[in-house]
Amino acid sequence: MMQGLMQHHPLLISGLLTHAAREHGKVEIVSRTVEGPIHRTTWAGIAERAARVAHALRRLGVEPGERVATLAWNGYRHLELFFGVSGAGIVLHTANPRLFPEQIEYMLTHAEDRVLFFDVTFAPLVASLATRLTHVHTYVALCAREDLPDAPIPNLVAYEDLLAPESPSIDWPALDETAASSLCYTSGTTGHPKGVLYSHRSTLLHAMSCGMVDGMGVSALESILVCTPMFHVNGWGTPYTAAMTGAKLVLPGAHLDGASLYSLLRAEAVTLTLGVPTVWLGLMAYVAREGLKPRDELRLRRVLVGGSAAPPALVLEFERVFGARVLHAWGMTETSPLGTTCTPRAEHDGADLEARVALQASQGRPPYGVEFRITADDGRVLPRDGASPGHLLIRGHWVAAAYFGSDAGPILDADGFFDTGDIATISDNGYLYITDRAKDVIKSGGEWISSIDLENAALGHPGVAEAAAIGVHHPTWQERPLLVVVAKPGAALTAEALTSYLTGRVAKWWLPDAIEFVAELPHTATGKLQKMKLREQFRDYRLPGT
Ligand code: AMP
Repeated sequence: MMQGLMQHHPLLISGLLTHAAREHGKVEIVSRTVEGPIHRTTWAGIAERAARVAHALRRLGVEPGERVATLAWNGYRHLELFFGVSGAGIVLHTANPRLFPEQIEYMLTHAEDRVLFFDVTFAPLVASLATRLTHVHTYVALCAREDLPDAPIPNLVAYEDLLAPESPSIDWPALDETAASSLCYTSGTTGHPKGVLYSHRSTLLHAMSCGMVDGMGVSALESILVCTPMFHVNGWGTPYTAAMTGAKLVLPGAHLDGASLYSLLRAEAVTLTLGVPTVWLGLMAYVAREGLKPRDELRLRRVLVGGSAAPPALVLEFERVFGARVLHAWGMTETSPLGTTCTPRAEHDGADLEARVALQASQGRPPYGVEFRITADDGRVLPRDGASPGHLLIRGHWVAAAYFGSDAGPILDADGFFDTGDIATISDNGYLYITDRAKDVIKSGGEWISSIDLENAALGHPGVAEAAAIGVHHPTWQERPLLVVVAKPGAALTAEALTSYLTGRVAKWWLPDAIEFVAELPHTATGKLQKMKLREQFRDYRLPGT
Protein backbone atom coordinates (compact mmCIF):
# COMPACT_ATOMS: atom_id res chain seq x y z
CA MET A 1 0.00 0.00 0.00
CA MET A 2 1.24 3.46 -0.80
CA GLN A 3 1.00 5.82 2.19
CA GLY A 4 -0.32 9.34 1.72
CA LEU A 5 2.19 12.07 2.32
CA MET A 6 0.16 14.29 4.60
CA GLN A 7 0.98 15.46 8.10
CA HIS A 8 -0.37 13.49 11.01
CA HIS A 9 -1.32 15.27 14.19
CA PRO A 10 -3.16 13.52 16.99
CA LEU A 11 -6.64 14.89 17.67
CA LEU A 12 -6.18 16.25 21.20
CA ILE A 13 -8.28 18.36 23.55
CA SER A 14 -5.19 20.47 24.32
CA GLY A 15 -5.02 21.29 20.60
CA LEU A 16 -8.58 22.61 20.77
CA LEU A 17 -7.65 24.90 23.62
CA THR A 18 -4.49 26.28 22.02
CA HIS A 19 -6.52 26.92 18.86
CA ALA A 20 -9.22 28.73 20.86
CA ALA A 21 -6.64 30.85 22.70
CA ARG A 22 -4.75 31.74 19.51
CA GLU A 23 -7.68 32.35 17.14
CA HIS A 24 -10.53 33.29 19.46
CA GLY A 25 -8.59 34.55 22.46
CA LYS A 26 -10.79 37.59 23.09
CA VAL A 27 -14.09 35.74 22.84
CA GLU A 28 -15.90 35.82 26.16
CA ILE A 29 -16.82 33.08 28.60
CA VAL A 30 -19.51 34.40 30.93
CA SER A 31 -20.48 32.56 34.11
CA ARG A 32 -23.04 33.04 36.84
CA THR A 33 -20.97 32.01 39.82
CA VAL A 34 -22.07 29.96 42.79
CA GLU A 35 -20.99 32.94 44.92
CA GLY A 36 -23.53 35.10 43.03
CA PRO A 37 -21.95 37.66 40.70
CA ILE A 38 -21.43 37.31 36.95
CA HIS A 39 -17.82 36.47 36.05
CA ARG A 40 -16.22 37.25 32.72
CA THR A 41 -13.15 35.75 31.14
CA THR A 42 -12.03 34.82 27.62
CA TRP A 43 -10.77 31.75 25.80
CA ALA A 44 -7.24 33.13 26.37
CA GLY A 45 -7.99 33.37 30.09
CA ILE A 46 -9.33 29.82 30.19
CA ALA A 47 -6.18 28.57 28.42
CA GLU A 48 -3.87 30.19 30.99
CA ARG A 49 -5.72 28.77 33.93
CA ALA A 50 -6.10 25.35 32.32
CA ALA A 51 -2.29 25.32 32.10
CA ARG A 52 -2.12 26.07 35.82
CA VAL A 53 -4.55 23.20 36.47
CA ALA A 54 -2.28 20.80 34.59
CA HIS A 55 0.83 21.93 36.50
CA ALA A 56 -1.00 21.72 39.83
CA LEU A 57 -2.19 18.18 39.17
CA ARG A 58 1.36 17.15 38.34
CA ARG A 59 2.52 18.71 41.62
CA LEU A 60 -0.18 16.72 43.44
CA GLY A 61 1.29 13.57 41.88
CA VAL A 62 -1.65 12.66 39.66
CA GLU A 63 -0.38 10.44 36.86
CA PRO A 64 -1.62 10.40 33.25
CA GLY A 65 -4.54 8.00 32.92
CA GLU A 66 -5.62 8.47 36.54
CA ARG A 67 -9.03 9.97 37.20
CA VAL A 68 -10.00 13.17 38.97
CA ALA A 69 -13.63 14.05 39.62
CA THR A 70 -15.80 17.13 39.62
CA LEU A 71 -19.07 17.82 41.41
CA ALA A 72 -19.78 21.16 39.82
CA TRP A 73 -22.27 23.38 38.01
CA ASN A 74 -21.62 25.03 34.67
CA GLY A 75 -19.00 27.71 35.25
CA TYR A 76 -15.58 28.93 34.12
CA ARG A 77 -13.64 26.90 36.69
CA HIS A 78 -15.36 23.73 35.53
CA LEU A 79 -14.44 24.72 31.95
CA GLU A 80 -10.80 25.18 32.96
CA LEU A 81 -10.86 21.66 34.37
CA PHE A 82 -12.40 20.30 31.16
CA PHE A 83 -9.30 21.41 29.27
CA GLY A 84 -6.59 21.39 31.95
CA VAL A 85 -7.29 17.89 33.26
CA SER A 86 -7.79 16.16 29.90
CA GLY A 87 -5.02 18.21 28.29
CA ALA A 88 -2.59 16.82 30.87
CA GLY A 89 -3.55 13.26 29.93
CA ILE A 90 -5.58 12.82 33.12
CA VAL A 91 -9.19 11.65 32.91
CA LEU A 92 -11.89 14.12 33.91
CA HIS A 93 -14.75 12.37 35.69
CA THR A 94 -17.74 14.73 35.74
CA ALA A 95 -19.93 13.24 38.47
CA ASN A 96 -23.63 14.12 38.57
CA PRO A 97 -24.32 15.77 41.96
CA ARG A 98 -28.08 15.30 41.53
CA LEU A 99 -27.82 11.54 41.97
CA PHE A 100 -28.33 9.90 45.35
CA PRO A 101 -25.28 10.12 47.67
CA GLU A 102 -24.91 6.29 47.53
CA GLN A 103 -24.73 6.44 43.72
CA ILE A 104 -22.19 9.26 43.85
CA GLU A 105 -20.11 7.29 46.33
CA TYR A 106 -20.34 4.25 44.06
CA MET A 107 -19.16 6.21 41.01
CA LEU A 108 -16.29 8.01 42.75
CA THR A 109 -15.14 4.69 44.20
CA HIS A 110 -15.57 2.77 40.95
CA ALA A 111 -13.59 5.42 39.04
CA GLU A 112 -10.91 5.47 41.76
CA ASP A 113 -10.77 9.25 41.59
CA ARG A 114 -7.62 10.79 43.11
CA VAL A 115 -8.74 14.40 43.46
CA LEU A 116 -12.25 15.76 43.92
CA PHE A 117 -13.02 19.30 42.73
CA PHE A 118 -16.37 20.58 44.01
CA ASP A 119 -18.51 23.69 44.04
CA VAL A 120 -19.02 24.93 47.59
CA THR A 121 -22.75 24.13 47.20
CA PHE A 122 -21.78 20.49 47.54
CA ALA A 123 -19.57 20.83 50.65
CA PRO A 124 -22.09 19.05 52.94
CA LEU A 125 -22.38 16.17 50.46
CA VAL A 126 -18.59 15.90 50.12
CA ALA A 127 -18.14 16.05 53.91
CA SER A 128 -20.64 13.21 54.33
CA LEU A 129 -18.79 11.01 51.82
CA ALA A 130 -15.16 11.94 52.51
CA THR A 131 -14.33 9.23 55.05
CA ARG A 132 -15.40 6.51 52.62
CA LEU A 133 -13.69 7.86 49.49
CA THR A 134 -10.40 6.13 50.16
CA HIS A 135 -8.89 6.82 46.72
CA VAL A 136 -9.30 10.58 46.98
CA HIS A 137 -6.19 12.21 48.43
CA THR A 138 -7.02 15.89 47.81
CA TYR A 139 -10.27 17.84 47.95
CA VAL A 140 -10.40 21.11 46.06
CA ALA A 141 -13.20 23.61 46.67
CA LEU A 142 -13.85 25.66 43.52
CA CYS A 143 -13.43 29.02 45.23
CA ALA A 144 -10.98 31.50 46.73
CA ARG A 145 -9.55 30.92 50.22
CA GLU A 146 -12.00 33.33 51.89
CA ASP A 147 -14.94 31.30 50.54
CA LEU A 148 -13.65 27.92 51.73
CA PRO A 149 -16.52 25.97 53.27
CA ASP A 150 -16.47 25.34 56.97
CA ALA A 151 -17.04 21.59 56.65
CA PRO A 152 -15.11 18.59 57.99
CA ILE A 153 -13.31 17.71 54.73
CA PRO A 154 -9.73 16.39 54.96
CA ASN A 155 -6.88 17.72 52.78
CA LEU A 156 -9.03 20.59 51.64
CA VAL A 157 -7.56 23.33 49.49
CA ALA A 158 -9.08 26.32 47.70
CA TYR A 159 -8.89 26.12 43.90
CA GLU A 160 -7.45 29.64 43.67
CA ASP A 161 -4.68 28.73 46.12
CA LEU A 162 -3.95 25.59 44.12
CA LEU A 163 -3.58 27.55 40.87
CA ALA A 164 -1.83 30.67 42.19
CA PRO A 165 1.78 29.41 42.29
CA GLU A 166 1.64 27.71 38.88
CA SER A 167 2.77 28.93 35.47
CA PRO A 168 0.10 30.06 32.99
CA SER A 169 2.03 28.56 30.07
CA ILE A 170 2.63 24.95 29.24
CA ASP A 171 3.84 22.58 26.55
CA TRP A 172 0.91 20.20 26.47
CA PRO A 173 2.00 16.54 26.38
CA ALA A 174 1.85 14.78 23.00
CA LEU A 175 -0.67 12.12 23.92
CA ASP A 176 -1.98 9.31 21.81
CA GLU A 177 -5.32 10.50 20.41
CA THR A 178 -6.99 7.30 21.57
CA ALA A 179 -6.05 8.05 25.19
CA ALA A 180 -8.97 8.43 27.60
CA SER A 181 -10.00 12.05 28.16
CA SER A 182 -13.18 12.04 30.23
CA LEU A 183 -15.54 9.74 32.04
CA CYS A 184 -19.27 10.10 32.48
CA TYR A 185 -21.58 7.64 34.20
CA THR A 186 -25.06 6.86 32.90
CA SER A 187 -27.85 7.93 35.24
CA GLY A 188 -28.53 4.29 36.05
CA THR A 189 -32.26 4.03 36.62
CA THR A 190 -31.74 0.32 37.20
CA GLY A 191 -28.61 -1.22 38.65
CA HIS A 192 -25.36 0.67 39.15
CA PRO A 193 -24.44 3.60 36.93
CA LYS A 194 -22.09 2.56 34.10
CA GLY A 195 -19.01 4.54 33.08
CA VAL A 196 -18.54 5.74 29.51
CA LEU A 197 -14.89 6.55 28.86
CA TYR A 198 -14.44 9.08 26.04
CA SER A 199 -11.16 9.49 24.16
CA HIS A 200 -9.51 12.63 22.80
CA ARG A 201 -10.20 11.37 19.30
CA SER A 202 -13.89 10.59 19.88
CA THR A 203 -14.35 13.96 21.59
CA LEU A 204 -12.81 15.92 18.73
CA LEU A 205 -14.62 14.05 15.98
CA HIS A 206 -17.87 14.58 17.89
CA ALA A 207 -17.10 18.31 18.28
CA MET A 208 -16.39 18.65 14.56
CA SER A 209 -19.64 16.94 13.74
CA CYS A 210 -21.58 19.15 16.18
CA GLY A 211 -20.09 22.27 14.62
CA MET A 212 -21.33 21.36 11.15
CA VAL A 213 -24.36 23.18 9.76
CA ASP A 214 -26.48 20.02 9.79
CA GLY A 215 -25.19 19.15 13.26
CA MET A 216 -25.67 21.99 15.74
CA GLY A 217 -24.43 24.54 13.20
CA VAL A 218 -22.13 26.42 15.57
CA SER A 219 -20.06 29.34 14.31
CA ALA A 220 -17.99 32.20 15.74
CA LEU A 221 -21.15 34.35 15.55
CA GLU A 222 -22.81 32.28 18.26
CA SER A 223 -23.39 33.12 21.92
CA ILE A 224 -24.37 29.80 23.53
CA LEU A 225 -26.22 29.46 26.83
CA VAL A 226 -25.43 25.97 28.06
CA CYS A 227 -28.43 24.83 30.12
CA THR A 228 -27.29 21.24 29.84
CA PRO A 229 -25.17 20.49 32.90
CA MET A 230 -21.50 19.93 32.13
CA PHE A 231 -21.87 16.70 34.13
CA HIS A 232 -24.47 15.43 31.65
CA VAL A 233 -22.42 13.99 28.77
CA ASN A 234 -19.90 16.84 28.89
CA GLY A 235 -22.58 19.50 28.43
CA TRP A 236 -23.48 17.72 25.18
CA GLY A 237 -19.96 18.53 23.97
CA THR A 238 -20.55 22.30 23.73
CA PRO A 239 -17.36 23.28 25.61
CA TYR A 240 -15.35 21.51 22.90
CA THR A 241 -17.48 22.67 19.97
CA ALA A 242 -17.28 26.25 21.22
CA ALA A 243 -13.49 26.09 21.55
CA MET A 244 -13.26 24.69 18.04
CA THR A 245 -15.50 27.32 16.46
CA GLY A 246 -14.84 30.38 18.62
CA ALA A 247 -18.37 30.67 19.99
CA LYS A 248 -19.00 32.63 23.18
CA LEU A 249 -20.12 30.49 26.10
CA VAL A 250 -22.61 31.54 28.76
CA LEU A 251 -22.59 29.23 31.78
CA PRO A 252 -25.60 29.55 34.09
CA GLY A 253 -24.23 28.04 37.32
CA ALA A 254 -26.67 26.53 39.78
CA HIS A 255 -29.82 28.38 38.66
CA LEU A 256 -31.84 27.01 35.77
CA ASP A 257 -35.15 28.67 36.69
CA GLY A 258 -36.98 30.79 34.12
CA ALA A 259 -36.03 34.17 35.60
CA SER A 260 -32.30 33.36 35.86
CA LEU A 261 -32.14 31.97 32.33
CA TYR A 262 -34.13 34.82 30.82
CA SER A 263 -31.82 37.44 32.30
CA LEU A 264 -28.77 35.68 30.81
CA LEU A 265 -30.49 35.23 27.43
CA ARG A 266 -31.10 38.97 27.33
CA ALA A 267 -27.89 40.32 28.85
CA GLU A 268 -25.54 38.08 26.88
CA ALA A 269 -27.35 38.34 23.51
CA VAL A 270 -27.64 34.56 23.42
CA THR A 271 -28.30 33.16 19.94
CA LEU A 272 -28.32 29.42 20.70
CA THR A 273 -29.24 27.52 23.84
CA LEU A 274 -29.57 23.85 24.69
CA GLY A 275 -31.24 21.71 27.31
CA VAL A 276 -33.92 19.17 28.21
CA PRO A 277 -37.65 19.94 27.76
CA THR A 278 -38.29 20.45 31.50
CA VAL A 279 -35.92 23.44 31.55
CA TRP A 280 -37.87 25.06 28.70
CA LEU A 281 -41.21 24.45 30.41
CA GLY A 282 -39.89 26.53 33.32
CA LEU A 283 -38.73 29.29 30.97
CA MET A 284 -42.06 29.34 29.09
CA ALA A 285 -44.04 29.53 32.34
CA TYR A 286 -41.91 32.48 33.51
CA VAL A 287 -42.32 34.37 30.23
CA ALA A 288 -46.10 33.87 30.31
CA ARG A 289 -46.38 34.87 33.98
CA GLU A 290 -44.36 38.06 33.52
CA GLY A 291 -45.96 38.97 30.18
CA LEU A 292 -42.49 39.29 28.57
CA LYS A 293 -41.81 39.87 24.87
CA PRO A 294 -38.84 37.63 24.05
CA ARG A 295 -39.20 38.29 20.32
CA ASP A 296 -38.40 41.97 20.91
CA GLU A 297 -35.92 41.57 23.75
CA LEU A 298 -33.79 38.59 22.76
CA ARG A 299 -31.53 37.56 19.89
CA LEU A 300 -32.29 33.87 20.45
CA ARG A 301 -32.52 32.09 17.09
CA ARG A 302 -32.20 28.41 17.93
CA VAL A 303 -32.97 26.10 20.85
CA LEU A 304 -31.50 22.63 20.87
CA VAL A 305 -33.87 20.27 22.66
CA GLY A 306 -32.79 16.75 23.55
CA GLY A 307 -32.57 14.26 26.37
CA SER A 308 -36.32 13.64 26.01
CA ALA A 309 -38.64 14.12 23.06
CA ALA A 310 -39.34 17.71 22.03
CA PRO A 311 -43.16 17.97 22.02
CA PRO A 312 -44.59 19.78 18.96
CA ALA A 313 -46.39 22.16 21.36
CA LEU A 314 -42.99 23.31 22.65
CA VAL A 315 -41.66 23.73 19.11
CA LEU A 316 -44.66 25.91 18.23
CA GLU A 317 -44.36 27.98 21.38
CA PHE A 318 -40.69 28.75 20.70
CA GLU A 319 -41.62 29.83 17.16
CA ARG A 320 -44.54 32.00 18.26
CA VAL A 321 -43.29 33.50 21.49
CA PHE A 322 -39.52 33.62 20.92
CA GLY A 323 -39.24 33.65 17.13
CA ALA A 324 -36.72 30.82 17.64
CA ARG A 325 -36.37 27.48 15.89
CA VAL A 326 -36.19 24.26 17.84
CA LEU A 327 -33.43 21.92 16.81
CA HIS A 328 -34.53 18.48 18.00
CA ALA A 329 -31.66 16.13 18.78
CA TRP A 330 -31.26 12.61 20.07
CA GLY A 331 -28.36 11.20 21.99
CA MET A 332 -27.19 9.35 25.05
CA THR A 333 -24.22 9.13 27.37
CA GLU A 334 -22.90 6.20 25.34
CA THR A 335 -22.98 8.28 22.13
CA SER A 336 -21.08 11.40 23.33
CA PRO A 337 -24.10 12.34 23.02
CA LEU A 338 -25.10 13.56 19.58
CA GLY A 339 -26.49 10.79 17.37
CA THR A 340 -29.00 12.81 15.33
CA THR A 341 -30.17 16.36 14.82
CA CYS A 342 -33.33 17.27 13.00
CA THR A 343 -32.20 19.52 10.19
CA PRO A 344 -34.11 19.84 6.90
CA ARG A 345 -33.14 18.54 3.50
CA ALA A 346 -33.58 20.30 0.14
CA GLU A 347 -37.00 18.67 -0.23
CA HIS A 348 -38.20 20.57 2.86
CA ASP A 349 -37.14 23.95 1.51
CA GLY A 350 -40.03 26.40 1.74
CA ALA A 351 -42.10 24.14 4.00
CA ASP A 352 -44.78 26.02 5.93
CA LEU A 353 -44.90 26.13 9.71
CA GLU A 354 -47.20 23.13 10.04
CA ALA A 355 -45.01 20.91 7.85
CA ARG A 356 -41.91 22.10 9.62
CA VAL A 357 -43.32 21.36 13.07
CA ALA A 358 -44.37 17.91 11.87
CA LEU A 359 -40.80 17.26 10.70
CA GLN A 360 -39.38 18.55 13.98
CA ALA A 361 -41.22 15.83 15.88
CA SER A 362 -38.49 13.63 14.43
CA GLN A 363 -35.24 13.34 16.37
CA GLY A 364 -33.51 13.89 13.04
CA ARG A 365 -30.93 12.12 10.99
CA PRO A 366 -27.38 10.99 11.67
CA PRO A 367 -24.35 12.91 10.49
CA TYR A 368 -21.39 11.21 8.83
CA GLY A 369 -19.69 9.22 11.56
CA VAL A 370 -22.64 7.35 13.06
CA GLU A 371 -24.87 4.70 11.58
CA PHE A 372 -28.26 3.37 12.70
CA ARG A 373 -30.18 0.18 12.34
CA ILE A 374 -33.56 -0.92 13.72
CA THR A 375 -34.21 -4.56 14.47
CA ALA A 376 -37.11 -6.81 15.46
CA ASP A 377 -37.06 -8.82 18.71
CA ASP A 378 -35.48 -11.70 16.79
CA GLY A 379 -32.62 -9.51 15.50
CA ARG A 380 -33.98 -9.14 11.95
CA VAL A 381 -33.09 -5.75 10.43
CA LEU A 382 -36.34 -3.81 9.81
CA PRO A 383 -37.05 -1.65 6.77
CA ARG A 384 -36.73 2.13 6.78
CA ASP A 385 -40.41 2.70 6.08
CA GLY A 386 -41.34 5.04 8.92
CA ALA A 387 -43.83 2.44 10.13
CA SER A 388 -41.91 -0.49 11.61
CA PRO A 389 -40.79 0.27 15.16
CA GLY A 390 -37.80 -1.70 16.34
CA HIS A 391 -34.79 -1.71 18.64
CA LEU A 392 -32.51 1.18 17.78
CA LEU A 393 -28.87 0.15 17.29
CA ILE A 394 -25.97 2.51 16.65
CA ARG A 395 -22.29 2.35 15.78
CA GLY A 396 -19.81 5.07 15.03
CA HIS A 397 -16.67 7.01 15.89
CA TRP A 398 -18.08 8.49 19.11
CA VAL A 399 -20.11 5.51 20.31
CA ALA A 400 -18.96 3.47 23.34
CA ALA A 401 -17.24 0.15 22.62
CA ALA A 402 -17.36 -1.01 26.27
CA TYR A 403 -18.13 0.33 29.73
CA PHE A 404 -15.33 1.37 32.06
CA GLY A 405 -13.99 -1.13 34.56
CA SER A 406 -13.02 -4.75 34.68
CA ASP A 407 -16.54 -5.68 35.87
CA ALA A 408 -18.09 -4.60 32.55
CA GLY A 409 -18.96 -7.16 29.88
CA PRO A 410 -19.25 -6.79 26.10
CA ILE A 411 -21.90 -4.37 24.82
CA LEU A 412 -21.67 -4.65 21.02
CA ASP A 413 -23.31 -7.17 18.70
CA ALA A 414 -21.43 -9.16 16.07
CA ASP A 415 -21.62 -6.21 13.63
CA GLY A 416 -20.29 -3.76 16.20
CA PHE A 417 -23.65 -2.12 16.94
CA PHE A 418 -24.69 -0.93 20.41
CA ASP A 419 -28.32 -1.42 21.49
CA THR A 420 -29.54 1.97 22.68
CA GLY A 421 -32.52 0.56 24.60
CA ASP A 422 -34.76 2.87 22.55
CA ILE A 423 -37.53 1.90 20.17
CA ALA A 424 -37.71 3.85 16.92
CA THR A 425 -38.84 3.98 13.34
CA ILE A 426 -36.70 5.35 10.52
CA SER A 427 -38.38 7.00 7.54
CA ASP A 428 -37.35 6.30 3.96
CA ASN A 429 -35.42 9.57 3.88
CA GLY A 430 -33.50 8.68 7.02
CA TYR A 431 -35.38 10.53 9.79
CA LEU A 432 -35.51 8.86 13.15
CA TYR A 433 -38.66 8.82 15.29
CA ILE A 434 -38.13 7.59 18.83
CA THR A 435 -41.39 6.06 19.97
CA ASP A 436 -40.24 4.89 23.41
CA ARG A 437 -37.62 3.51 25.69
CA ALA A 438 -37.95 -0.27 25.24
CA LYS A 439 -38.97 -0.57 28.88
CA ASP A 440 -41.61 2.17 28.60
CA VAL A 441 -43.50 0.80 25.60
CA ILE A 442 -47.17 0.18 26.39
CA LYS A 443 -47.99 -3.33 25.20
CA SER A 444 -51.66 -3.55 24.39
CA GLY A 445 -52.90 -6.86 22.98
CA GLY A 446 -49.59 -7.65 21.30
CA GLU A 447 -49.37 -4.20 19.70
CA TRP A 448 -47.23 -1.34 20.89
CA ILE A 449 -48.56 2.04 21.90
CA SER A 450 -45.97 4.82 21.84
CA SER A 451 -46.01 6.66 25.14
CA ILE A 452 -44.11 9.58 23.57
CA ASP A 453 -46.75 10.06 20.85
CA LEU A 454 -49.53 10.00 23.43
CA GLU A 455 -47.71 12.52 25.62
CA ASN A 456 -46.98 14.81 22.68
CA ALA A 457 -50.63 14.74 21.63
CA ALA A 458 -51.74 15.59 25.20
CA LEU A 459 -49.21 18.43 25.41
CA GLY A 460 -50.93 20.02 22.42
CA HIS A 461 -53.88 20.86 24.72
CA PRO A 462 -53.43 24.40 26.04
CA GLY A 463 -54.32 23.33 29.59
CA VAL A 464 -51.65 20.62 29.87
CA ALA A 465 -48.29 21.51 31.43
CA GLU A 466 -46.78 18.03 31.50
CA ALA A 467 -47.97 14.52 30.67
CA ALA A 468 -46.69 10.98 31.10
CA ALA A 469 -48.24 7.86 29.61
CA ILE A 470 -47.59 4.52 31.28
CA GLY A 471 -48.87 1.00 30.76
CA VAL A 472 -51.13 -0.34 33.52
CA HIS A 473 -52.10 -3.98 33.88
CA HIS A 474 -55.28 -4.96 32.06
CA PRO A 475 -56.85 -8.44 32.32
CA THR A 476 -57.68 -8.69 28.59
CA TRP A 477 -55.15 -6.47 26.84
CA GLN A 478 -52.12 -7.11 29.09
CA GLU A 479 -51.57 -3.35 29.38
CA ARG A 480 -53.59 -0.25 28.65
CA PRO A 481 -52.44 3.37 28.77
CA LEU A 482 -52.91 5.57 31.80
CA LEU A 483 -52.18 9.24 31.19
CA VAL A 484 -50.87 11.16 34.18
CA VAL A 485 -51.21 14.90 33.71
CA VAL A 486 -50.04 18.10 35.37
CA ALA A 487 -52.51 20.84 34.43
CA LYS A 488 -51.35 24.41 33.81
CA PRO A 489 -52.09 26.75 36.72
CA GLY A 490 -55.66 28.01 36.47
CA ALA A 491 -56.67 25.56 33.73
CA ALA A 492 -60.04 23.92 34.40
CA LEU A 493 -59.15 20.66 32.73
CA THR A 494 -61.19 17.47 33.01
CA ALA A 495 -60.45 13.91 31.90
CA GLU A 496 -63.47 14.03 29.58
CA ALA A 497 -62.32 17.23 27.91
CA LEU A 498 -58.81 15.87 27.39
CA THR A 499 -60.10 12.56 26.03
CA SER A 500 -62.27 14.31 23.51
CA TYR A 501 -59.28 16.51 22.54
CA LEU A 502 -57.18 13.39 21.97
CA THR A 503 -59.90 11.66 19.94
CA GLY A 504 -58.88 11.93 16.31
CA ARG A 505 -55.35 13.03 17.26
CA VAL A 506 -54.20 9.50 18.10
CA ALA A 507 -55.45 6.11 16.90
CA LYS A 508 -58.68 5.17 18.68
CA TRP A 509 -57.17 2.15 20.42
CA TRP A 510 -54.38 4.36 21.78
CA LEU A 511 -56.80 6.57 23.74
CA PRO A 512 -55.91 6.29 27.44
CA ASP A 513 -58.28 4.16 29.50
CA ALA A 514 -57.88 6.62 32.34
CA ILE A 515 -56.46 10.08 33.02
CA GLU A 516 -55.20 11.11 36.44
CA PHE A 517 -54.26 14.65 37.46
CA VAL A 518 -51.27 15.17 39.74
CA ALA A 519 -49.46 18.24 41.12
CA GLU A 520 -46.10 17.15 39.71
CA LEU A 521 -44.36 14.30 37.90
CA PRO A 522 -41.15 12.60 39.07
CA HIS A 523 -37.96 13.44 37.12
CA THR A 524 -34.54 11.81 36.96
CA ALA A 525 -31.28 13.53 37.88
CA THR A 526 -30.97 14.67 34.27
CA GLY A 527 -34.50 16.03 33.99
CA LYS A 528 -36.26 13.16 32.24
CA LEU A 529 -39.64 11.79 33.24
CA GLN A 530 -39.05 8.98 35.70
CA LYS A 531 -41.48 6.43 34.32
CA MET A 532 -40.24 3.65 36.58
CA LYS A 533 -41.19 5.62 39.67
CA LEU A 534 -44.54 6.51 38.14
CA ARG A 535 -45.23 2.87 37.31
CA GLU A 536 -44.45 1.99 40.93
CA GLN A 537 -46.78 4.72 42.13
CA PHE A 538 -49.64 3.40 39.96
CA ARG A 539 -48.79 -0.30 40.29
CA ASP A 540 -52.10 -1.24 41.90
CA TYR A 541 -54.14 1.14 39.78
CA ARG A 542 -57.49 -0.26 38.68
CA LEU A 543 -58.55 0.90 35.24
CA PRO A 544 -62.28 1.59 34.88
CA GLY A 545 -64.23 -1.57 34.02
CA THR A 546 -61.54 -3.95 35.31
P1 AMP B 1 -28.77 9.74 28.84
O1 AMP B 1 -27.74 8.73 28.61
O2 AMP B 1 -29.07 10.00 30.27
O3 AMP B 1 -28.46 11.00 28.10
O4 AMP B 1 -30.15 9.18 28.25
C1 AMP B 1 -30.26 8.77 26.93
C2 AMP B 1 -31.69 8.48 26.59
O5 AMP B 1 -32.49 9.66 26.60
C3 AMP B 1 -31.88 7.93 25.19
O6 AMP B 1 -31.58 6.58 25.10
C4 AMP B 1 -33.35 8.23 24.96
O7 AMP B 1 -34.19 7.27 25.58
C5 AMP B 1 -33.55 9.53 25.67
N1 AMP B 1 -33.51 10.63 24.69
C6 AMP B 1 -32.50 11.45 24.42
N2 AMP B 1 -32.84 12.35 23.49
C7 AMP B 1 -34.12 12.09 23.15
C8 AMP B 1 -35.07 12.67 22.23
N3 AMP B 1 -34.77 13.73 21.51
N4 AMP B 1 -36.28 12.10 22.14
C9 AMP B 1 -36.61 11.04 22.89
N5 AMP B 1 -35.79 10.46 23.78
C10 AMP B 1 -34.55 10.98 23.91
